[in-house]
Amino acid sequence: MESKLQVYNSLSGKKEIFKAINAPHVGMYVCGPTVYSEVHLGNCRTFISFDMIFRYLTYSGYKVRYVRNITDAGHLENDADEGEDKISKRARLTELEPMEIVQKYTLDFHNVLALFNNRPPSIEPTATGHIVEQISLAEDILNKGLAYESNGSVYFDVDAYNKEYDGAYGELSGRKVEDLLSNTRALDGQSEKRNPADFALWKKASPMHIMRWKSPWSDGFPGWHLECSVMSSKYLGNHFDIHGGGMDLKFPHHECEIAQNKALDGKKPVNYWLHTNMLTLNGQRMSKSTGNTLLPGELFTGDNDKLSKAFSPMVVRFFMLQAHYRSSLDFSSNALEAAEKGFNKLMDALAVLNELEASEDSNGFELNTWVEKLHASMDDDFNTPVLIANMFDGVKYINSIKHGDATISSSDLELLKSTLSAFIFEVLGLKPEEEISTSGNDELVNDLMQIILDSRMRARQSKDFASADRIRDLLADLNITLKDGKMGAEWEVK
Ligand code: AMP
Ligand code: ZN
Repeated sequence: MESKLQVYNSLSGKKEIFKAINAPHVGMYVCGPTVYSEVHLGNCRTFISFDMIFRYLTYSGYKVRYVRNITDAGHLENDADEGEDKISKRARLTELEPMEIVQKYTLDFHNVLALFNNRPPSIEPTATGHIVEQISLAEDILNKGLAYESNGSVYFDVDAYNKEYDGAYGELSGRKVEDLLSNTRALDGQSEKRNPADFALWKKASPMHIMRWKSPWSDGFPGWHLECSVMSSKYLGNHFDIHGGGMDLKFPHHECEIAQNKALDGKKPVNYWLHTNMLTLNGQRMSKSTGNTLLPGELFTGDNDKLSKAFSPMVVRFFMLQAHYRSSLDFSSNALEAAEKGFNKLMDALAVLNELEASEDSNGFELNTWVEKLHASMDDDFNTPVLIANMFDGVKYINSIKHGDATISSSDLELLKSTLSAFIFEVLGLKPEEEISTSGNDELVNDLMQIILDSRMRARQSKDFASADRIRDLLADLNITLKDGKMGAEWEVK
């Protein structure tokens, strides 16, 4: 497949022409969430960015197998090799089973991403579903002589790996082992390691640690980095096209993943490493651990002091896509209000476009050049801000046709319609607002309305007209009007 797509590869630090290993197939792995609390808007930005990348690759004709994991074990506090598992800590504090925490926040994650109109990945594997494979990879690395057992735990031997593979550790993040040593804090368990730069493949569980599995070395649990090495190679092979995640994962997580996979055969596991930049709030990275976060639900209801009003999921998505995925983006209510205006302008233009009448021929706009520009902006490392700016040139043209200042032929009208809607809906993944409010939920909304109407009917039957009227008025506040008929009440949204 001839490709014009260029992607910025964090491994080389350059934009490169994208060449799939086995075109038209593309394998893409993205690190998923650690499901111990609600996803915040920063997490959403990363997953929306990769959804856009998934969508554009698919739109360009690739058959993408998109694997995004769920981290449901092994991720310790402070991303370290010591401490409590984030999930079991939450379970302890809330007196729930760890798997109840996992279930609750996996559902929350799916619901939020569906509201943002993200497509689901092709495979969504979990760390706890791949313990056997993780033990087996740790064994293979031990057999290669690049890991060692210490007191029931297994550590990756960074020194031995560097000797075998020419100082490869640090190839992604650019960090040198010497720098790492001076930065390593004195943590418990460091004494088990030969070298502070070594990292855990398997940890022996302390008596307190409830998420544990049997292994040849101890009752314990896998190291955080091991799961992604295992799940990516299991579903995409030992050598695949794209690996992504937020840029905070470059080190140590992705650096360690490369080392674990490369330890087996010396070959690089991934051709293109893509890293998304952070969403910030007051200039600081949004992060669960510091509490500097906004939750998607707060945006949709407007229930937060930082917000002037509520914003719909599509406005938030549009706001995110107006920035390039590799630029940082600062959140503010003002910026969202501006995005809302832009989004509405785009949607209004689509409505106008559907009403336009064709003329004999086109004039006032270079349509083919414009179509090429849209593709070129996405082929330039998924440059959505430039794409959106170019789309607004098309919006200007639509409005000038409407005002009689330009014309369009019927074939050009078809091209304009199909191109604009493909980029808005398929590539950027936006949806008109009305569709969202009930999409996928029609049945639920009908069932809920039936419950409300039944209780109003019962109130009327028992002559409690005050309650019946109150229900009608509350529904009216939501623009839902009731019509009483012989068969009971009917409702409609005005
Ligand atoms: P976690 O659940 O903490 O493992 O994070 C899930 C994903 O969200 C990772 O790819 C992180 O890099 C990403 N992420 C975390 N904070 C932010 C942020 N403020 N902006 C963008 N992405 C983020
Ligand atoms: Zn990962």
